[in-house]
Amino acid sequence: METPKTLMAAIQFFGDPDHALRYFASKRWPNGVTCPYCDADTPMFLQTRRIWKCRKCRKQFSAKVGTIFEDSPLPLGKWLTTAWLIGNCKNGVSSYEIARDIKVTQKSAWFMLHRLRRSMQDPYTGGKLAGEVEVDETFVGGKARNMHVAKRRKKIFAPGPHSKAIVAAVLERGGRVKAAVVSKRRKHQLHELVRANVEPGSALYSDALQAYDGLKDDYLHQVVDHAECYVEGQVHTNGLENFWSLLKRGLGGTYISVEPFHLFRYIDEQSFRYNNRKMTDAERFDLAVRGIVGKRITYDRLTGKEADGRTRVN
Ligand SMILES: [Zn+2]
Repeated sequence: METPKTLMAAIQFFGDPDHALRYFASKRWPNGVTCPYCDADTPMFLQTRRIWKCRKCRKQFSAKVGTIFEDSPLPLGKWLTTAWLIGNCKNGVSSYEIARDIKVTQKSAWFMLHRLRRSMQDPYTGGKLAGEVEVDETFVGGKARNMHVAKRRKKIFAPGPHSKAIVAAVLERGGRVKAAVVSKRRKHQLHELVRANVEPGSALYSDALQAYDGLKDDYLHQVVDHAECYVEGQVHTNGLENFWSLLKRGLGGTYISVEPFHLFRYIDEQSFRYNNRKMTDAERFDLAVRGIVGKRITYDRLTGKEADGRTRVN
């Protein structure tokens, strides 16, 4: 089934509930619809309600069952249009924009965006970074000094200049980025990020931060001292500088205030767009939709009342 090529086409296409269902079902069940409860094939399709009924276990199910859309009353078309927007808007898209564009409440839009971010969470199983790899870290977050003290306590969790959160990342030149929130800019945190994500023997470029000392045993580690210059031949971290500016533009402009707890989701979202930057909008959208199946997230889990199960570098 053809994927719409532009935002305008996507809005028009997914505005038709039959189109939206056919598209989503074709991604979810590329080999034909099967019952999510008992795996039986060829269920009956109840056209008027746009659901299926299993011939074996007799249960009824919609295309949303078992996906991040499960238990959402919002129509598939609105979900898919939102997935298009978040997959393709370079600087991200805010819940206020979604609320206005697809006519849902801002709270619903916020929840939709967070669920969709989860489906964008590292879809790669393909190994560690290799070749020429940059490592760097940066501070992100609100301007704490301008905040009311109670709000500041709530929003800021990591110490650092101006009490901002720290994000560290490794980037393979010409390839993927892997980024994470870290608790400190110390050896332990940064070495763990590098060792978990970069193939030993790779060329590794960083700035002169002392916490990177000690990686020479496993990597061809070269340092550029930013006090002296920013680029020394191949030795620079310009790839990550570019990624940081994309991330900060999104965080600063589009997402007016980000709770520290949710920061890693925005990082995942920006990483997803960055890592798939060579795809067309339609291809990137298809990939985001493939991540939707099987990644259910409840409101409790999303707001931290339930453990997420995700490994984080702390
Ligand atoms: Zn069944």
